[in-house]
Amino acid sequence: MAGFFISFEGIEGSGKSTQVALLAQALRSQGYDVVVTREPGGTAVGQVLRRLLLESTSAPLAPGAELYLMLADRAQHIQEIIAPALRANKIVLSDRFVDSTTAYQGYGRGVELGLLAQLNAFACSECMPALTLVLDLPVSEGLKRVRQRQSGTEGTDRFEAESVAFHERVQAGYLAVARSDSQRVRLLDAMRSVEVIHQEILAVVQGRLLVLHKT
Ligand code: ADP
Repeated sequence: MAGFFISFEGIEGSGKSTQVALLAQALRSQGYDVVVTREPGGTAVGQVLRRLLLESTSAPLAPGAELYLMLADRAQHIQEIIAPALRANKIVLSDRFVDSTTAYQGYGRGVELGLLAQLNAFACSECMPALTLVLDLPVSEGLKRVRQRQSGTEGTDRFEAESVAFHERVQAGYLAVARSDSQRVRLLDAMRSVEVIHQEILAVVQGRLLVLHKT
């Protein structure tokens, strides 16, 4: 598929949405056609699924239900947003994608990793990200940033409310993903300033776009 697909990954508060916005702005100012999207919730159907997935309710969501809702969101997201944008040769920036399933439902909830790899391949055989940027941050710092981000009126979502041990497993999952697929996945130290991280991301992405245009 044409276009260029970049996913952003990392624990809550690692700076994904901040960096997605900055990269989109920088690329657009260079004349690129950029689509910004996210999971869950990149489509109208996905918005409904996002509410189901993130709202804290008294009844806990079964791990299987959580997984199927995430996969349903992704199927819709790919068909409606990602695949058409890539076919139209656009740059797609997605705040979370398949590696979130591996990290959260696999490492976090304990769903078998081999099964997730199969489901991920089935969901997106033709639209795996060309580049995945994992923002690497200690869990304590991520949770601190999330608390600071909350305005006071905004509640904690179901994942943010999880235990520190859960977030540590998710973080370990991201590190494992980065180790196992170093061609696609780039680990970035997210303890640095917003601007320093942005400049590194921009340099990596511009390098990749240059290669793409030459081939
Ligand atoms: P995510 O989308 O990964 O949950 P956000 O981009 O919303 O994370 O960032 C979480 C909070 O941390 C926000 O209040 C944001 O302004 C702040 N933040 C983002 N990047 C940095 C950084 N490099 N250093 C300090 N604070 C940051």
